[in-house]
Amino acid sequence: MKLEQTSRRRNLGIIAHVDAGKTTVTERILFFTGRIHRAGEVHTGDTAMDFDPEERQHGITIQSAATTVAWRDHALTIIDTPGHIDFNLEVRRALRVLDGAVMVFDGVAGVEPQSETNWRLADEYRVPRIAFINKLDRRGADFDRVCREMESRLQARVMPLQLPLVSGESLEGVIDVLRGVVIRWTDESGLNPVEEPVSAELQSAVAMARQKIVELAVELEESSVDRYLAGERIGLEELRALIRRGTMAGTFVPVLCGSALKNRGIQPLLDAVVDYLPAPEDRAALADEKAGPASLSALVFKIADNGSFGSRTIVRLYSGGLKPGQLLENSRTGRTERVSRLFRQQAGREEEMESAVAGDIVALAGLKDTRTGDTLGLPGKVTELERIHIPEPVTTQVIESDNREHKERLSAALAKLVRADPALRLAVNATTGQLEISGMGELHLSVLREKLERQLGTPLRMGRPQVAYKETITRAAETAWRHRKQGGGPGQFADLTLRIEPLERGAGIVFESRISGGAIPSEFIPAVEQGIRARAAAGLVRGAPVTDFRTVLLDGKTHPNDSSALAFQIAGRDAMDALLCEAGAVLLQPVMRVTVTAPEETTGAIMGDLTRRRGLVTGQSALSGAAVIQARAPLAGMFGYIGDLRSLTSGRAGFTMEFHGYEPVV
Ligand code: GDP
Repeated sequence: MKLEQTSRRRNLGIIAHVDAGKTTVTERILFFTGRIHRAGEVHTGDTAMDFDPEERQHGITIQSAATTVAWRDHALTIIDTPGHIDFNLEVRRALRVLDGAVMVFDGVAGVEPQSETNWRLADEYRVPRIAFINKLDRRGADFDRVCREMESRLQARVMPLQLPLVSGESLEGVIDVLRGVVIRWTDESGLNPVEEPVSAELQSAVAMARQKIVELAVELEESSVDRYLAGERIGLEELRALIRRGTMAGTFVPVLCGSALKNRGIQPLLDAVVDYLPAPEDRAALADEKAGPASLSALVFKIADNGSFGSRTIVRLYSGGLKPGQLLENSRTGRTERVSRLFRQQAGREEEMESAVAGDIVALAGLKDTRTGDTLGLPGKVTELERIHIPEPVTTQVIESDNREHKERLSAALAKLVRADPALRLAVNATTGQLEISGMGELHLSVLREKLERQLGTPLRMGRPQVAYKETITRAAETAWRHRKQGGGPGQFADLTLRIEPLERGAGIVFESRISGGAIPSEFIPAVEQGIRARAAAGLVRGAPVTDFRTVLLDGKTHPNDSSALAFQIAGRDAMDALLCEAGAVLLQPVMRVTVTAPEETTGAIMGDLTRRRGLVTGQSALSGAAVIQARAPLAGMFGYIGDLRSLTSGRAGFTMEFHGYEPVV
């Protein structure tokens, strides 16, 4: 089958600011490619892609489901990406495994703060993209303005490939500039577009638009520039090839438009995906460089538990081939597991595959000890692919159920969710025994709660969101510590000299032993480290875990009868306790990078409010009538910010918030 050629694959993401229309665009793609037979609508909670009920309720797409459709003899695998900043990790994960993206913009709202964040992330991962300006059926939508905003806010070189044909409040069709034809949709289904010649009065606008495309495209190829300057007409096929090259290199961004809701513009968008976005083989394969093309290498980017299907490990295969029964080694655990079956996922159903090749996104059954972000390879030959950056879980909430019976099921369900989402942490509070869940923000945790409530069929209670504090030390200290206990039975003896030193933010905990000549037998040394870590976890200033330090075990003594691992563990713990008191322990808090976009006249109020939240305004700029305020603010002051911002600006402001770093509380 032709689809088996990898040049006929596209792994793409559809990326957008919340509400720009990503779900609708995705769902229409499924509709026009024939996967579903009725165009469901988001507000009725009836779309094929968002099959998690929590996602429908929030009206935002959270999980990255991968679904494959066919268009013009090509297999398009759509990796669904979330738009909300609280799910930044999922956006990153998806960006890591896809080859190209369709960036959806709201034709009225234009380039919103989150579109900007997502755009920068896509830049970071060098994802080639095309833009789709949606909602052109709405009053106030303006294709040209959004193009200009893309240039000014995103520093994108835009290449409009279409011109919208708007009449009153309805989008009648689009002009395909390259071919010089009008594509008109005459019925509601959008299934039967008709093509017509461009009317006389629009001819010159189309000619100008074509000239812009040609000028951007020929720049890529000297011989084309020469021919263009000599007055030669550059043909359609050559232009398409140049646009494809420029798109893949990120030199410019083709822009298309439409109205997903009204079924307008989706077929040309699919054509552009096939024509301009890269096939897996067009992207410099990371794995090829590391492991060589012959070896198998796959990155796990999602663990999906789709109820009736059971658990699936969703991977992107970077090199090699995969068949059912294959043994795979996990680079993190060093253990091997057997793949029982392979599937290609489609919206709400699965299709079994007999084999998968490099470039495929495939769902594996049979793997139990695998987590998101793991690399899988042939036993003995696995080379870790780039680690996916995992953001700090900065918000913690107690989660509990009134019903005692549900308690165990709750912790089991939580453990499962933590396995699928590395941005979540689960802990049991040592004093209260309550379950504490940490994640990226309030929304991240509230989505989790709803998911659990649905699974367990019982309401859950959550405590107030708390900041996940940490502690660190500010100066070096040294101690000679002796732990000695005598009495009935065997005594305990451990003697050690321990030094502690501060490390830079993010360094974590480092332990080093400089014991030589067996002053402490090597089997007791890990016990010292365990004692240190246990003490560090309990904190000093406010009971938050101590981090970013190095401890060095300098010297020690043992007793012929009374020394043991336990004695050294206790000595490590108590020595650490003494060191913490001397090393100037301080409390660290998460500080967020906040960007607010708001009408000019509200900036005074917004900045005053940010200052009251102990935020520091770091920049201010103006963009087409709106002010963009940048600030850094402690997370502790930012809970509930969305509501307050709304009332300050009568709902006319937007904001994004990202983790910046841990800083001392002053
Ligand atoms: P997402 O949050 O980016 O996934 O956006 P959705 O697809 O959920 O769309 C958000 C809202 O905009 C929904 O109410 C849609 O019905 C509506 N919407 C999406 N596309 C269009 C469009 O082309 N025109 C209009 N007028 N509304 C649209």
